[in-house]
Amino acid sequence: MRGTVLYGPGDVRFEERATPTIVDPTDAIIRLSATCVCGSDLWPYRGLNAASEPSPMGHEYCGIVEEAGRAVKTVTRGQFVVGSFAASDNTCPHCRAGYHTSCAHRQWVVGAQAPVLRVPLADGTLVATPDVPSAELVPGFLAVSDVLGTGWFAADAANVKPGATVVVVGDGAVGLLGVLAARQMGAQRIIAMSRHDKRQELAREFGATDIVTERGDAGVDRIIDMTHGVGADSVLECVGTQESMMQAIHAARPGGYVSYVGVPHGVQLDGQQLFFEHVHLHGGPAPVRRYLSELIDLVLNGKINPGKVFDLTLPLDQVAEGYRAMDERRAIKALLRP
Ligand SMILES: [Zn+2]
Repeated sequence: MRGTVLYGPGDVRFEERATPTIVDPTDAIIRLSATCVCGSDLWPYRGLNAASEPSPMGHEYCGIVEEAGRAVKTVTRGQFVVGSFAASDNTCPHCRAGYHTSCAHRQWVVGAQAPVLRVPLADGTLVATPDVPSAELVPGFLAVSDVLGTGWFAADAANVKPGATVVVVGDGAVGLLGVLAARQMGAQRIIAMSRHDKRQELAREFGATDIVTERGDAGVDRIIDMTHGVGADSVLECVGTQESMMQAIHAARPGGYVSYVGVPHGVQLDGQQLFFEHVHLHGGPAPVRRYLSELIDLVLNGKINPGKVFDLTLPLDQVAEGYRAMDERRAIKALLRP
């Protein structure tokens, strides 16, 4: 088969690779219905993570089980499955506590920007739909596997409650789906921070009640002003930079909650400053597995349509254009069809 490999900054190649096969008896082999480019793929693409050797890319996926290892019990050949970017056993103490991305047996899933993928720990990682879904639901399920799961965790970790005032920092796919999650959790006011027309429009469609275009201190001043000097109950930080993190912390009210789900790059927090902020901080790689069944149901029943974040669809062999379009912010998120 041919799959996606990042050789260095800006150098994405779609090239011949070995077709994955069962390695451990707990593995499953999936033929992908769709895959995509993640915002986090852009960090190494931009040279901001040192890549020492060519790396197979992609960790968002859904598709049909082609083969299940002999120890796999919960999924079988022919089923449509959704999994997360972290394989987990779903049985260890961390999984049972809902922190599957800290699973004692965690393995990162790599190489999903390809037609075929090996998923380790299939029983703990994959959730099957009742039937093979129609093609129009596939983008929604693909979103579940990472961006929606991450946006959902962002809202959950920020303790979004019915009636809450919520701020979402970041208008990438995760931030936009954080808006959708906050709406589903009953937030009353959802303020999306965005300066792009197309993204503002989608934020509103997903449930944002207000848009703030200012950034940094000016953005914080606007939030404080809009909340009558109080600050937000819940703030979702969906970027991972120093500016976005400080913006999130300063936008929260004393006693408020800040979640952070963007991989931090160069973020430094000052202990004394944090002490006087009086905020709850909770983040990390989203334990998407915790939410899979619930989110699959919401998509299946047409309650939500997270697949709308894919505003560019390309054949998989044009994956390099998907990276370019996202890097240049011409696309929110690129869906790739094998
Ligand atoms: Zn575990």
